[in-house]
Amino acid sequence: MHAARIDGKGTAAQMRKELQTEVQALESEGVTPGLAVVLVGENAASQVYVRMKQKACREVGIYSKEHRLSESITQVELLDLVDALNADPDIHGILVQLPLPGGLDEQEVLCRIDPDKDVDGFHPINVGRLSVGAPGYAPCTPAGIMELLRRTGVEIEGKKAVVLGRSNIVGKPTAMLLLGEHATVEICHSRTRDVAAACRTADILVAAVGRPEMVRGDWIKPGAVVIDVGINRTDAGLIGDVAYEEAAAHASAITPVPGGVGPMTIAMLLSNTVHAAKRTAGLV
Ligand code: NDP
Repeated sequence: MHAARIDGKGTAAQMRKELQTEVQALESEGVTPGLAVVLVGENAASQVYVRMKQKACREVGIYSKEHRLSESITQVELLDLVDALNADPDIHGILVQLPLPGGLDEQEVLCRIDPDKDVDGFHPINVGRLSVGAPGYAPCTPAGIMELLRRTGVEIEGKKAVVLGRSNIVGKPTAMLLLGEHATVEICHSRTRDVAAACRTADILVAAVGRPEMVRGDWIKPGAVVIDVGINRTDAGLIGDVAYEEAAAHASAITPVPGGVGPMTIAMLLSNTVHAAKRTAGLV
């Protein structure tokens, strides 16, 4: 078997096209979706992510306002900015780019964002909504994985899903979303005794550990769908958590790195922002 390549880049481009049409329709109702992006300090990777997010916003017609703050900003000043954005009627989504520089309390800042403007889905209220299956915003990477599975026509109900990684940003919410779609879900982490054995039971395998090519070909159940979330910067370029060629020899479908989950993450941020604007306008 040689796996089909799941084209996250193409799927995300298609989503952006659809969102552009939705934004145009909203414009005719007098609504322009607005996203505030807060970037504190000089983290190079964060700067790249923020640039990519803003470019994507422009492409679909979302108004995006960047707040670039010095590393010396105090917690109180940052919370004041969040309060102002919460109260700003032109802003429907607020994104605070993580990580925040040391000395700032990330959790307090995330908790200050109005949950209905929390398009990153990190506020505990949205985490709770996801857990009880209530409408809310799911974190963008897990939501992007689900959208990719849906658009690829992968059946989830009744399947065994194994998620490698239990972070609040990727692993845990991905597991909750898969559970919500009626998969039987197993989560593995650094203390799991035999990760390879767990992987071999997976019809759907999601790898989000941050270890280059940790998942080997003989860990893959024949015909499995493999989603590689990992982004590892190495001398050889960007490498996923899955040994792609080896895994592709056993899987039925697999995402590449780059060009898999990454572009979907940004597409979901745009989608959540458009949804937030529609909700504010009473259109959903
Ligand atoms: P974290 O470092 O927060 O979490 C990694 C998880 O992997 C932890 O739960 C950890 O276990 C687990 N883990 C580490 N080593 C092993 C191991 N040997 N065996 C089993 N589990 C292990 O990372 P993130 O969740 O934030 O990100 C994961 C990867 O996804 C990274 O490469 C990151 O760059 C990428 N990423 C990609 C995105 C995209 O848009 N494509 C977005 C976000 C992240 P424990 O909890 O026990 O420590």
